[in-house]
Amino acid sequence: MVVVIGAGATGLGVAWDLTLRGIPVTVIDQGDIGHGTSGRFHGLLHSGGRYVVTDPPAARDCYEESRILTRIFPGAVIPTGGVFVAVQNEDLAFQELWLKGCQRASIPVRELSPAALRQKIPDLTSAVQSAFQVPDGVLEGFTVLFRLARHIEAAGGQIWRQTRVEAIRMVNGRVSGVVIRTRQDDRRDIACQAVVNAAGPWAGDISRLLKDPLRMNLAAGMMIIFAHRRVPLVVNRLRHPGDGDILVPHGRTVIWGTTDVPQERPDPPRPTREEARRLIHLGEALFPEMGQWRVLRAFTGVRPLYHPGAVGDAREISRDFTVIDHLAQGGPEGAFSVVGGKWTTFRLMAERVADQVARYLSVDQKSRTRDVVLRPTEDHQARSAGPLVCECEGVSVSAWGDGAAPLDHRRLRSWFGMGPCQGTLCAHRATGLRAREVEPHQALAELRAFREERMAGMRPVDWGDNARQYALLEAVRQQTYAEMEEADDA
Ligand SMILES: Cc1cc2nc3c(=O)[nH]c(=O)nc-3n(C[C@H](O)[C@H](O)[C@H](O)COP(=O)(O)OP(=O)(O)OC[C@H]3O[C@@H](n4cnc5c(N)ncnc54)[C@H](O)[C@@H]3O)c2cc1C
Repeated sequence: MVVVIGAGATGLGVAWDLTLRGIPVTVIDQGDIGHGTSGRFHGLLHSGGRYVVTDPPAARDCYEESRILTRIFPGAVIPTGGVFVAVQNEDLAFQELWLKGCQRASIPVRELSPAALRQKIPDLTSAVQSAFQVPDGVLEGFTVLFRLARHIEAAGGQIWRQTRVEAIRMVNGRVSGVVIRTRQDDRRDIACQAVVNAAGPWAGDISRLLKDPLRMNLAAGMMIIFAHRRVPLVVNRLRHPGDGDILVPHGRTVIWGTTDVPQERPDPPRPTREEARRLIHLGEALFPEMGQWRVLRAFTGVRPLYHPGAVGDAREISRDFTVIDHLAQGGPEGAFSVVGGKWTTFRLMAERVADQVARYLSVDQKSRTRDVVLRPTEDHQARSAGPLVCECEGVSVSAWGDGAAPLDHRRLRSWFGMGPCQGTLCAHRATGLRAREVEPHQALAELRAFREERMAGMRPVDWGDNARQYALLEAVRQQTYAEMEEADDA
């Protein structure tokens, strides 16, 4: 049996690949599925266009993998298309390099007239100088992760949530098991023949448990979610990659980002007001009215980059990935790490590390993940027709989730409560529906838990109309909860 540490895109990808080869797996995550960077990213399915000048190998991998993911995750990986836009006074020499890079990486590019583009995207600046369409898309991260998890568990794999790996056991220099601490504070041993470190930004910590430390190059990025789907496709700024140059449509919202700030520790830092202002200010070069758009929230994620010897600007560090067999560098036998890379390339990363694990276990089975289609199940139907539980995200009452799951779990699975009202209105309708499935006091307890989770760490980083909107939502919530408390007391 193989233990995979981390239930992000990489860890679940590894577990799925091994499962299809007939190798039993147990996945362990200190949080829930998508607790790390895989639940805190921009959601862009990279065509590779962003990296053709600075990182051609990563660009080629992105292009190839984006086509595979679109095929194997129908409905969760959405080929919206994307556009690279140069505004007036942008460096034309970079544009030339970029066009040549796309050609070398075989990424199809089609020039669009600025006028035609502004018809599609009226909010775009009138200072567009040139624009090129590429096959970018949108990754619905949680939908992909939950689909993978469901298939792994259906095939007999185990996923331990809220469980931390605290130590790795070795006998005669060979991995023999892991020591875990569960949510209930139980400490236990799990025996295994091999361990895969897919701990993203925490991979350095896990490598220390393996007594073969890896030096990660961590960098935090901030993103801002705005209400309303202001663009039908991904918009990238055509220039040397920098801060604040990509807008991605997600459901009824758009996500703008990002930044790149070196980090010592893997936990995501809190977004700051100054960084939010700077990011929005950068956005005004492409969308002059961005400062007036309604902000829903800002969040950060930490890039798990790895490039031994790299110093300086994190954007210059390759987005390529590395698979490490720790035995080859003097570490234990049966220990593998997979670091770096992108969400877009998680399947390929998983295939490469699973090849090494299968060889180590003498299992002669090739990877099948590029061919096995993971079809939509309830996650997709949840957005189908019928009366709605959540108008913002179009989630229907008939299919908003499994009756056993509490409200907050249904949020991540169906996306209800994630749109412009942030659950202020739909959470109450959902609680009414929930009260038909469980006792009313339990439904109310779930509503409180939902609110706590939704509001966790929330504090305004904005100003003007946005701050007023936040205050209004907060007032509605507080009034409702005051009435609930009174009802409870009565
Ligand atoms: C700001 C930002 C924007 C990005 N945007 C994009 C994008 O648009 N497109 C794209 O392709 N890529 C993007 N990326 C990159 C991409 O998100 C990451 O490369 C990818 O999510 C990494 O996934 P992972 O599974 O390797 O790591 P993670 O998702 O971080 O998973 C690691 C898991 O390990 C668990 N773990 C750690 N330590 C332990 C322990 N001791 N015990 C148990 N569990 C443990 C953690 O809880 C975590 O869930 C972005 C990254 C950032 C930071």
